[in-house]
Amino acid sequence: MKTDYLILGSGLSGLVFGSLMAKSGKKVQILEVHEHPGGFGHTFMMAKKYKFNAQLHYVWDCGEGYTVNRVLKKLNLDRTVTFERYDPDGFDRMIMPGYSLKIPSESEELIHRLSELFPQDAHQIRKFVLEVKKTREGLKKLSPPVNPAELIQHFGEVSCAVMYLYSTLQDVFDKFNLPVEAQTLLALQWPDFLLPPNQLSFYAWVILFSGYQEGAFYPTKHFEFVINSLIKVIEDNGGEVILNHEVTNFMVTDKAVTGVKAVNQITHEAREFTGETIICNIDPKKAAQMIGIDQFSPKVRRQLNYDYSPSNYMAYCVVKDIDLRDYGFGKWNTFHTGHRNLNQAFTQMYKNHDYSNPSFAITTPTLLTETERDCPDDCQIIEFLTVANYAYFKQLQDTSRKAYNQKKEEILNYILDVVEKHYIPNLRKYMVFKIAGTPTTNERFCWCPHGNSYGSSLTPKNMGLGRLNHLTSLKNFYFCNASSGYPGFAPTFWTGALLYQRLSGDVILGTA
Ligand SMILES: Cc1cc2nc3c(=O)[nH]c(=O)nc-3n(C[C@H](O)[C@H](O)[C@H](O)COP(=O)(O)OP(=O)(O)OC[C@H]3O[C@@H](n4cnc5c(N)ncnc54)[C@H](O)[C@@H]3O)c2cc1C
Repeated sequence: MKTDYLILGSGLSGLVFGSLMAKSGKKVQILEVHEHPGGFGHTFMMAKKYKFNAQLHYVWDCGEGYTVNRVLKKLNLDRTVTFERYDPDGFDRMIMPGYSLKIPSESEELIHRLSELFPQDAHQIRKFVLEVKKTREGLKKLSPPVNPAELIQHFGEVSCAVMYLYSTLQDVFDKFNLPVEAQTLLALQWPDFLLPPNQLSFYAWVILFSGYQEGAFYPTKHFEFVINSLIKVIEDNGGEVILNHEVTNFMVTDKAVTGVKAVNQITHEAREFTGETIICNIDPKKAAQMIGIDQFSPKVRRQLNYDYSPSNYMAYCVVKDIDLRDYGFGKWNTFHTGHRNLNQAFTQMYKNHDYSNPSFAITTPTLLTETERDCPDDCQIIEFLTVANYAYFKQLQDTSRKAYNQKKEEILNYILDVVEKHYIPNLRKYMVFKIAGTPTTNERFCWCPHGNSYGSSLTPKNMGLGRLNHLTSLKNFYFCNASSGYPGFAPTFWTGALLYQRLSGDVILGTA
């Protein structure tokens, strides 16, 4: 039987698209180069007993009626793939010298907490938080599929959102004249974007910040179960996910993509795969380079001219015989900065490679769900995430493995020094396992060019009107990944579901 949809890459948007198409009766085949499916969302096991998700920490839009829930319902998975909610009274906990703030779900409570910290600026704080809410409502109306009647009905919110099309978060902080410490507390989840306020698109910040306010979640049975459940739908409906196959060439005739060549990573055999329609979950720019950039229309070429998001450093650690709940951890993330100014903190790490006063995220996946453990009973997992520069790490790796390993170790030590000083005394004593990933690790295991973390960088330029979408200008060929939609668990669910909706006519996200 001929493949209806040949999907290149098993990242979340590819899997969501594939599972929806398979469920609707189409024959789906997915080619994935890695030994684990899921792309950035893949899970790996270390020392035969500790499971880590490569990148995902917490997710939004999973509540009743939201994107993820709608897709899962369509797939009959909503009762098996469930989520645990983070603490609504403080899902992100921000810590900086002299200040701390628990970010609550309720905007009024956020205004109250910030106003207590900065009483002189209470009026401006209120105005800023209300503007964020208004922008969020406008962006919801502007997000495809667009309903023109709603645009008119919500003209105030829509025009508020449009006004910030080319604004950074810093522009809006400045407009509302917020004190720098309040800015830092509000923007401390910068590792979720890997950009500082003076580069980050205000839209990107509003979507994520408000999304988590409406509900921050962790999958009850971890991210691996989500990925496996999507794959099961594909397989139960006659489709297949073929791992360890690298797409190396595209077959293109008369501006139509008909198939690809892929090399089996184990046997090194090359094989051709064809499909009625080819869906590209591989980074669009990388795929376009393989196809030949001149095959694309001038418009798509311009859209493909995005710069990549910065990369990251992540340390995956296991502690034993200690309960992290006794040290201020729980159903929330902790974000730390030693610097008052996040723009400076970012430059210091990303440009100067100086981590002596780091800003980073701390997550504790074991504390987020009771149902299934990702490590033995007497252990807990703790992870640290910050920004890292690809070019710097690549050069270290290429020239001196020793220097590369030393830098990895140095960053972890700086982070652990801070954690031992401010959060968990003698943490190192309890640590039974640690492994760190750098930008080149990302490139190797997530196959993302330059180790990019979120596809195209989340700057106003990339988030603006010239953003790439599913259309490639080639026949039978569509993009479907973070850079042609939006990055993140819920946004890639949305990206895959929207493409399904567009190609099938079956409405799951709203207006067709
Ligand atoms: C550090 C970090 C933290 C993050 N934290 C969160 C979070 O907490 N919450 C959240 O919502 N989001 C988070 N994200 C973002 C989220 O993980 C991604 O946006 C999302 O998973 C991207 O999905 P995708 O569909 O674009 O595909 P990708 O994950 O990019 O997958 C693409 C797939 O294509 C495969 N591939 C590439 N080249 C080839 C080839 N030649 N042949 C065959 N296969 C190929 C790759 O191996 C990969 O499996 C994080 C990302 C990073 C880096």
